[in-house]
Amino acid sequence: MIDNDFQISAEAIRKRIKVPEHPLWPELTADEKKALKERIKKLLDEQNAVVVAHYYTDGDLQELTEETGGCVADSLEMANFGTTADADTLIVCGVRFMGETSKILNPEKRVLMPDLDASCSLDDGCPIDLFSKFCDAHPDHTVVVYANTSAAVKARADWMVTSGIALPIVEHLKARGEKVLWAPDLHLGHYIEKVTGVDMLLWPGSCVVHEEFKSVALERLRRLHPDAVVLVHPESPDAIVEQADVVGSTTRLIQAVAEMQEKKFIVATDDGIFWKMKQLAPAKQLISAPTTGEGASCESCAHCPWMGMNSLQNLEELLLKGNNEIVIDADIREKALIPIQRMLDFANQHNISGKYQQQS
Ligand code: SF4
Repeated sequence: MIDNDFQISAEAIRKRIKVPEHPLWPELTADEKKALKERIKKLLDEQNAVVVAHYYTDGDLQELTEETGGCVADSLEMANFGTTADADTLIVCGVRFMGETSKILNPEKRVLMPDLDASCSLDDGCPIDLFSKFCDAHPDHTVVVYANTSAAVKARADWMVTSGIALPIVEHLKARGEKVLWAPDLHLGHYIEKVTGVDMLLWPGSCVVHEEFKSVALERLRRLHPDAVVLVHPESPDAIVEQADVVGSTTRLIQAVAEMQEKKFIVATDDGIFWKMKQLAPAKQLISAPTTGEGASCESCAHCPWMGMNSLQNLEELLLKGNNEIVIDADIREKALIPIQRMLDFANQHNISGKYQQQS
């Protein structure tokens, strides 16, 4: 039976989300940090383990990941990397859906995370029971879900996408005359709808970090820095996206800083990304888009509290204890693999990468 009356509001979803406090990690002296990194490197070697870290994690973690032959990237490349890595254990530093995606693609490997409670407001705001009802109510739509969803939600989808590949995949579905049901990020869904002209049914979820960028304060900041390029991740509200010079995935925003001639950038995404931007373009000035001003909340700091649950300290603890393993039900894994693999095949066919490759 089709329940055409199914409805859920953004407020109802927001009430389900419990945003944690930002973890406070003890400050380390340079010597302590060096010693800690050496211990971690030895443990990684001994365990034939490799780290896969997201651009939003702590800079020290990103640095260690690169020094040890791991991968620092967005969620598209994080998913891809595990399948090619010659390691028995993948350590995913990011949020839980990233660990789950790695496990779905690499069932033979051990996938560990520094903190299994590292969640995401988009994932938490799209529970499988409600999402299934939404899909049941619209059986004539192709179900496209963002990477920021649980394995169970992916198992219900036709396609999984990341922000770096969402537009070409939705264009591809449009060319085939398909109608799209999109979840869970409302702002990214609106953006895709606007760019592609596809009529999309949107789940009303949001990212607690990007939701906090303030449009009036951004206008003022742009007036103060008229020479700055405005870079915006499309999980941000429309009023922020409309002020952007460049809209795109984390990889696209990093590319803009590395390759554009301009010297100053206002950046509307998690400020963990600054580490990679500064590494590639140390002379450029980066300014965080404003999260204070009218309507600001205690979550307004441009840094994801769940991404903040990853640190050098708990990475060492993880390697010593070998706990926090990602386990996924075999049936769900099998079903969730289909939309993920579809996306990876599409990315390979169209040469789309989720890792910035510097031009030589
Ligand atoms: S930054 Fe937003 S979308 Fe990314 S993990 Fe955190 S809550 Fe989720």
